[in-house]
Amino acid sequence: MEKTIVIGGGLMGSSAAWQLSRQGEQVLLIEQQQSVYKNGSSYGESRIARSLGPEDDIFSYLHNKSVAEAKQLISFLNAASNGNTHSMEDIYTHSPVTYVFDHTSIEEMKAICHEKQTDAYKIASHTNAHEVLGMTIPSSDTVIREFTDYSGTFNPRVLIAKLHEGIRQYGNRILYGYKIAGISRKHGHYEIEAVDLQTQETKLFLTEKLVVAAGPYTGELLKHIAPQFGTLITPKRVFTSFFKIKASVYLTYSADEKEAIRQSQPSYFQYDGLFYSMIDRIDDDGLPVFKAGAHGIYHSIENMDECWNTQPTDENVEWVRERLYRYLKMLNISIQESDLEYVHKQSCVYSLTVNGLPFVTPATQGDNSMVVIGGMNGIGGKGSMCYGLIAANLLLGKEEEEAMYKKTLEALRK
Ligand SMILES: Cc1cc2nc3c(=O)[nH]c(=O)nc-3n(C[C@H](O)[C@H](O)[C@H](O)COP(=O)(O)OP(=O)(O)OC[C@H]3O[C@@H](n4cnc5c(N)ncnc54)[C@H](O)[C@@H]3O)c2cc1C
Repeated sequence: MEKTIVIGGGLMGSSAAWQLSRQGEQVLLIEQQQSVYKNGSSYGESRIARSLGPEDDIFSYLHNKSVAEAKQLISFLNAASNGNTHSMEDIYTHSPVTYVFDHTSIEEMKAICHEKQTDAYKIASHTNAHEVLGMTIPSSDTVIREFTDYSGTFNPRVLIAKLHEGIRQYGNRILYGYKIAGISRKHGHYEIEAVDLQTQETKLFLTEKLVVAAGPYTGELLKHIAPQFGTLITPKRVFTSFFKIKASVYLTYSADEKEAIRQSQPSYFQYDGLFYSMIDRIDDDGLPVFKAGAHGIYHSIENMDECWNTQPTDENVEWVRERLYRYLKMLNISIQESDLEYVHKQSCVYSLTVNGLPFVTPATQGDNSMVVIGGMNGIGGKGSMCYGLIAANLLLGKEEEEAMYKKTLEALRK
């Protein structure tokens, strides 16, 4: 009999398994993919990390608490390896975050600029954007640039690898390549049926406690034991495209122009399909590779296992190119739309919920033996270390005194 099983080794399950390990629990983490992931909502090298938000915003709290938790993970790994081989910069790439608003998102903008805002930011309209941010923006737009430490981007692949290392350091196990095919409750414990995807053999695990963090697969996985999650989460496919500025153009830019590009990423538009962009990586030739897409344009999914391989359409790619070009043009650099060279494209999956809030919740009210983390849409990743902490605390019956922790706990409960 296992003490605790965590299903799903994406950002959420890995974080929960790490937090449980830290709190002295015996944990088994089970993931259907092999150790090098090829899909999942956490797949990839970059996500936007940002802190700026309205007063008492739970998403700002989730991000900042995650940063604090990541620092603890780094200290632990360095102490365990007796050196300084791990750093926050492995996970986070610090850069300003630029938010673009128009008249349809004026209320969101006002909410961010509240009197008690402690994050450093600059705000500019078309009349002073050049002076404040070195940008030229349309008269309908307002731009806010946030400068908080550890805002910028973070790398989910690296964070997951560090979490797995931490879990193992506590003597806990991770099983890759096992797909959970069924969960049932018997005599006060859970019976977990796991299929070894290489041999197709089935293995039965018994556990006292369970965390389910199967991302967009959560509803399907829980359909017998907690069918309500099938309607709480709607998985939707989203598209991303990757571009770089042609070497023949990028290499002619001055150091200041290159810095202006760096400072402008990541970006997050509060209108027009919620366009976003970020620097995913620097390629072997020293060129930034931009990842960009739409937080607000979704496609339905017929087969979850297949949808990761569904190629975004040419129209999707052109939609991204056009907006990335328009944004880079605002930086007053010399660029033509055709200077944006297509690199590749990808489909990924959001788990939408009715009110836009994700959940970390006991599956059944009044029984904390099974906790579900799910419903993560396009902003879940930056808070992953905190979602995992909340799940671990719920499972272990632990509370925290911080007012924002309590507010967040309440907001995430179903
Ligand atoms: C295109 C895109 C852009 C995003 N941008 C941002 C951003 O800028 N900032 C931000 O903060 N967040 C962003 N997010 C959101 C963030 O990436 C997600 O919230 C987060 O990755 C969700 O993690 P997860 O662990 O819930 O899901 P997943 O990563 O999908 O993890 C679930 C895991 O469970 C495994 N699994 C499923 N079923 C089973 C089973 N039956 N048996 C065993 N294992 C199973 C899966 O293989 C998977 O690895 C973005 C997401 C996408 C898709």
